[in-house]
Amino acid sequence: MLFEKLENYGCEKVTFFYDKGAGLKSIIAIHDTTLGPAWGGTRLWSYHNEEEALIDVLRLAKGMTRKASISGLDAGGGKAVIIAKPEQKTEALLRAHGRSVETFKGGFITGEDVGIGIEDAKIMHKETEHVAGISKEIGDPSPFTAHGVVCGIRACVKDVYGNPNLSGLRVAIQGVGHVGYNLAKELHKEGSELIIADIREELIKRASQEFGARMVTLEEIYSVDCDIFAPCALGAIINDETISKLTCKIVAGSANNQLEENRHGRILHEKGIRYAPDYVINAGGLIAIYMESKHNTAEEGMKKVEEIEDKIEKIIALSKEHNEPTYEIANRLADERIRNKRKEQEATK
Ligand code: NAD
Repeated sequence: MLFEKLENYGCEKVTFFYDKGAGLKSIIAIHDTTLGPAWGGTRLWSYHNEEEALIDVLRLAKGMTRKASISGLDAGGGKAVIIAKPEQKTEALLRAHGRSVETFKGGFITGEDVGIGIEDAKIMHKETEHVAGISKEIGDPSPFTAHGVVCGIRACVKDVYGNPNLSGLRVAIQGVGHVGYNLAKELHKEGSELIIADIREELIKRASQEFGARMVTLEEIYSVDCDIFAPCALGAIINDETISKLTCKIVAGSANNQLEENRHGRILHEKGIRYAPDYVINAGGLIAIYMESKHNTAEEGMKKVEEIEDKIEKIIALSKEHNEPTYEIANRLADERIRNKRKEQEATK
């Protein structure tokens, strides 16, 4: 059962770590290193059980492989999950995780994710060089991610409305946390009308005051009259229940794994709603951190992030040409780059 799962996700290597003294229980999945060392953040989450943690790390690692590939990076995909409650996050635990990362000798490069902030990543860094995104130059990757989302939205808008102007368009943002807030900031500058929902009142207040955003309830955000729905909170929000409520022409946001199932991407396609595949549009943070690791400046990182606009444009064009959902086109392009590289490597063996 266990090995069958690992095989199904196509992972190269999956390692379980246990350190009794530090209280560490973690899994590191290296999905694919054809294009380069595996990149992927470390998530600390209080999973209900080990099976849930395993599925999460396998799914996320595979997503990272495609994200790095489609973004044109010489990087593979991986992910780490630590099974712990937030209050169990100690220096000893983070250092033990750092030592686990070090065992890959640069084959796995990690950083922040849910439950792991920049200060935590700095603690891991005491034990391993292979932690990215902790410098002052880039800092929080969220503004880069948000900028990439704006670029992706622009590509969709060009296709649907015939020009890239975001002014006057109504954007419903689900979640105004790190990415959602920065997205709202950029869109406000562009003259878009903002509608927001979040479970945290102080964040709603901040976005309403700063950008004149209109607040709706957590339920209304799906059905509110808008041009663009930008999910920036949770995964699996495009599902049987929500899909019929959408009034938008475009779904484009930062959340990972937005489609509950692939078939929901097909339904969006059949309804004529443009869907910007999540791992393409939300790659800005990864791109910025990767670029920094190659000694590029933040401006150079931002330039590379802006290529997201062309990528989404290309995906939409192919989707229309072949009458196939955008997520399928994105998967094909991402997998194709890896396949070609593999062939090249085999030919030179
Ligand atoms: P965050 O935790 O800062 O923000 C998420 C926000 O969503 C929070 O304010 C939270 O209160 C809100 N939220 C939670 N449940 C909600 C609900 N049911 N309805 C409305 N709002 C709800 O996280 P973030 O860093 O802004 O990331 C947002 C999403 O983008 C996540 O899915 C993340 O995986 C993805 N993502 C983030 C980055 C990045 O650079 N931060 C990069 C790639 C992908």
